[in-house]
Order: sequence, then C-alpha cells, then structure tokens
Amino acid sequence: IKYNTASFVTSAPDISRLPADTGIEVAFAGRSNAGKSSALNTLTDQKLARTSKTPGRTQLINTFELDADKRLIDLPGYGFAKVPIEMKKKWQKSLGEYLQKRQSLKGIVVLMDIRHPLKDLDRDLIDWAVGSEIPVLALLTKADKLKQGARKAQVLQVRRELSNLEGDITVHAFSSLKGTGLPEVAKKLDEWFLG
Ligand code: GDP
Repeated sequence: IKYNTASFVTSAPDISRLPADTGIEVAFAGRSNAGKSSALNTLTDQKLARTSKTPGRTQLINTFELDADKRLIDLPGYGFAKVPIEMKKKWQKSLGEYLQKRQSLKGIVVLMDIRHPLKDLDRDLIDWAVGSEIPVLALLTKADKLKQGARKAQVLQVRRELSNLEGDITVHAFSSLKGTGLPEVAKKLDEWFLG
C-alpha cells in the first residue's frame, strides 16, 4: 500500500461522529508527546498530523483516507496531567467503546517513548485492545535517542512485559528522525489492511 496517498478527510469531535463504520481502519494512539504526529507524517511522507499542545483543549480525532475503504485514525493524545478527571473518564469510556464496537478497526498502533514505555494509560489501552481482540503494534518511538544496545534491550524488555497478555502484540523500535522501523510498520499495516 502506498501510504503517501493518504489525504485528510475529517476531524470528529468525538468517536460517535467518526466516518461510517465500513471498510478497514487502523488507529494511532499514544501519550501526548510520544511522537504520534511525527510517526504519521513519516509513514505518509506528508505533514498531515499536527498536535494541539495545549493541555485540556478539546482534541479532535483526525481521519485520513488511503482509499474509499482504508482509513488511518489519529486519536487524541492522552496523559495530560492537567486535564480534569471528568474529561479523562469520558475519554476512557468512549475509547473503550470504540475498541469494542468499531467493526472496521483492524489494528491499533500504540506509540510510546522508548525511554519510558508502558505507563499506566499505555497498559490500560493495550489491555483494552487485547480484551477486544484488536491486534496491537507497539512502537517504541524516538529510538535514535538510545544507543543500539540500549534500544534492543528496551524492545526485549517491553516484549517480555507484554508476553503475559494473550493477544496479538508486535513490538518494534521506531524513529521518525532516522526512519528506523518504518518498513516494519508498513508491513504490519499492509497485513491489517489487506487481510
Ligand atoms: P505527539 O504529541 O505524540 O504527536 O508527538 P510529536 O510527533 O509532536 O513529537 C513530540 C516531540 O518529540 C517533538 O518535539 C518531536 O520533534 C519529537 N520527536 C518525535 N519523533 C521523534 C524521533 O523519532 N526522534 C527524535 N529525536 N525526536 C522525535
């Protein structure tokens, strides 16, 4: 699949207002600042994704289309300390529903900074995805920040920590800066989109 053909379709204020639940979609999620926008931009070779860096602002869910029945979904970043608890709860509820009910969702890419992966909300998200039988691609971002030995050790450690979950989970190091892991991401997405 040529990911550089992706084009912006729409921004939805919440999950209930996403495009019709047809075809196949792959969602990208991660703590704010994890490198999600950079990863989407690297994958699509475009400046598609921007992030609102203002904590607590209403964050939109952006949809990008590869063709009429293939979509990339850019979910709002989570983990802002200053977001009111009610907003956090509302978001968790709708995210849980999305993972459970969205027929077209064939995989979720979870982006985590390689230097501090598997924070509580990352674990929650991965747990929910596994519980909903959604395959997970965990990308350890900003891999260029670690030397090769430390990078490999971190990938192995995350794989080990997730190995007790009975789910379809793949873990790779990724760097938007260097292109590390990009072929592996494209391969996994092709698998999800093409079945
Ligand atoms: P988002 O909030 O998850 O969308 O994160 P962004 O993509 O906006 O990235 C957050 C910060 O991390 C920015 O300052 C990026 O320049 C930086 N960043 C993202 N990806 C990489 C990477 O692969 N390597 C390095 N060194 N920095 C990165």
